[in-house]
Amino acid sequence: MARSPFEWIDEQARARSKAGLVRTLRPRPADSALLDLAGNDYLGLARHPEVTEGAARAARTWGGGATGSRLVSGSTELHAELEHELAEFCGFESALVFSSGYAANLAAVTALAPHGSLIVSDAGNHASLIDGCRLARGTTQVVAHADPDAVRKALDTRTGPAIVVSDTVFSVDGDAAPLTALAAACRDAGEAGQSGRPGAALVLDDAHGLGVIGDGGRGAAWAAGLAGAPDVVTTVTLSKSLGSQGGAVLGPAHVIEHLVNAARTFIFDTGLAPAAAGAALAALRLLRGEPERAARARAVATALYERLTAEGLEAVRPDAAVVSVRAPSPEQALRWAAECRAAGLAVGCFRPPSVPDGISRLRLTARADLTDGQVDRAVGVIIEARR
Ligand code: PMP
Repeated sequence: MARSPFEWIDEQARARSKAGLVRTLRPRPADSALLDLAGNDYLGLARHPEVTEGAARAARTWGGGATGSRLVSGSTELHAELEHELAEFCGFESALVFSSGYAANLAAVTALAPHGSLIVSDAGNHASLIDGCRLARGTTQVVAHADPDAVRKALDTRTGPAIVVSDTVFSVDGDAAPLTALAAACRDAGEAGQSGRPGAALVLDDAHGLGVIGDGGRGAAWAAGLAGAPDVVTTVTLSKSLGSQGGAVLGPAHVIEHLVNAARTFIFDTGLAPAAAGAALAALRLLRGEPERAARARAVATALYERLTAEGLEAVRPDAAVVSVRAPSPEQALRWAAECRAAGLAVGCFRPPSVPDGISRLRLTARADLTDGQVDRAVGVIIEARR
């Protein structure tokens, strides 16, 4: 018999198994009794009746799918409405929605980093930004995590256009990027005396900031006074705070027009499903009407952090809704997560290679709709699992 072309896959699988790093899928039951601190539904909107009705109404009106790419048949009034309201809410001139936050990030980085340009990328950036850098024609310099001086040094080497790319809230540890200092580094690069080179643009991934940070959840760029600036572009996902699916890029109108004409994940991808657009729009309107949801998500995160660290656990002080708790080993992280689950609590478990620093963690997500009693229960279960 011929040798399998996939022997190398089996070798990799054996190595993964030996290292205790095999991943498996576990379908989530619709009526789970688990207390969920694993998902990214930060505002508790994914199952809100107005959100699910928004999805259902959109599907009945526009169909189960967008039917084509946005430039052919996939743009509906709903997409335009969502883009308009998102841009307005977050304080940007214009917005463009994509089928995922991942696609939005690929679009922003590739379309804004042409041949001859420099991309300065934080070492802790999300995989979708990293992949954007890999696909872009420009050259990437990865700089130390949250280090504006390293960004300045990297920008000094540019010979053409440049972008600085960063998560606003890092997805694994939940820490915030130094946005004011990053914006200053970009602007200083454009000052006279910099050998006539153009300034650098700041491209921010606000996946974990939208709905949680800033006045009523208007996002990290808004909170830092950067929303609507001519040199700032933000990407968001519709799949976390807005309880839907999809992503968007927000920025100056001429930049968004450029994406319509140049971003491959916009041009060659089927448009965002109408149900997802309808759900996101309903969630955005709820958030506008109930701005206290954002502050509540942050307060729940802080409470989780303070209670767990008071019990001797090592965690990162949360800047948004993500609380990262350090585990001594990948095996231990898995065991903690399994014990939490057995006790009725779902938590995220991050291990290498998802986390390149080799540190395994439990990742807890605060939700605006958690009661104080549920926070007590979650803390109790985690403390018990650690024993
Ligand atoms: N950026 C960050 C920081 C994320 O955490 C995620 C989701 N894990 C994404 C982008 C991708 O967004 P989406 O899930 O909508 O593709």
